[in-house]
Amino acid sequence: MTSERPRHRAKKSLGQNFLQDPNVCRRIVDAIRIEPDDYIIEIGPGQGALTGLIAGAGPRRFTVLEMDDSLALRLEEDFPDVEVVRTDALEFDWESLNAASCKIVGNLPYNVASKLIWDIVSRVHSLSLGVFMVQHEVAMRLTADPGTKAFGGLTAWVRNFADTRYLFKVPPTVFKPRPKVDSAVVGFRPLPSELWPDDPEALSRLIKTLFQKRRKQLSTILKQEWNEQVQAWFDEEGVSPKARPENLTPEQFQGLSRLI
Ligand code: SAM
Repeated sequence: MTSERPRHRAKKSLGQNFLQDPNVCRRIVDAIRIEPDDYIIEIGPGQGALTGLIAGAGPRRFTVLEMDDSLALRLEEDFPDVEVVRTDALEFDWESLNAASCKIVGNLPYNVASKLIWDIVSRVHSLSLGVFMVQHEVAMRLTADPGTKAFGGLTAWVRNFADTRYLFKVPPTVFKPRPKVDSAVVGFRPLPSELWPDDPEALSRLIKTLFQKRRKQLSTILKQEWNEQVQAWFDEEGVSPKARPENLTPEQFQGLSRLI
């Protein structure tokens, strides 16, 4: 049946760079350590390079989210046992997954990868493991240490919800069509829920405000909000008011967001 199909033309607007290398696919799927009781969600299954391997590992339940209608149709034909949801993953109701523990995996479309990861780590309380392929530069940001150039708003946010681990680099040559940049696979292990921020909205607002002016000193960015309490917090934490946003640790963003 597959041979009669017209060839799929990759859509750049949907970040369609399809994996061609079985070894890379295997390494990604191995990283999610599928167990028989697992509920797996794959974002952007495309032509099924990872889907087939995941289905073959026999998780209890397997759902894929694909935005491209023609690819979703093919996936329904090729994998009748897999639940194919035709949706924009950015619009997906992530909270609906909170009934059961799940693992989420995907070779993410680069144009929406950061936004998706931002949402998933903070909204899927039932996540037990995430494994995502992203642009190499985004992988560096997700796994950056405080005080380094790569540490940004995405780092500060994600690391209040999950530990991240740079797993491996992937060159453009293993995709068709080839992207212009390197990729990398990153693992996400959620932090215990008691470490999550009580008020994610306040944390998100603070992180966005600070990183819009990341070259400025904290005391300058927070001039309007500066008061004795804020000064005392800086003293207690041993943070200089002259420090810049990337010098705070993920926990310090949370602490500061409680005051401001
Ligand atoms: N998993 C396949 C692979 O590794 O070969 C395809 C990966 S390709 C980089 C990204 C996939 O995500 C494409 O199939 C694309 O149609 C789909 N996609 C793009 N934007 C999406 C979105 N907002 N929601 C769900 N799927 C999306």
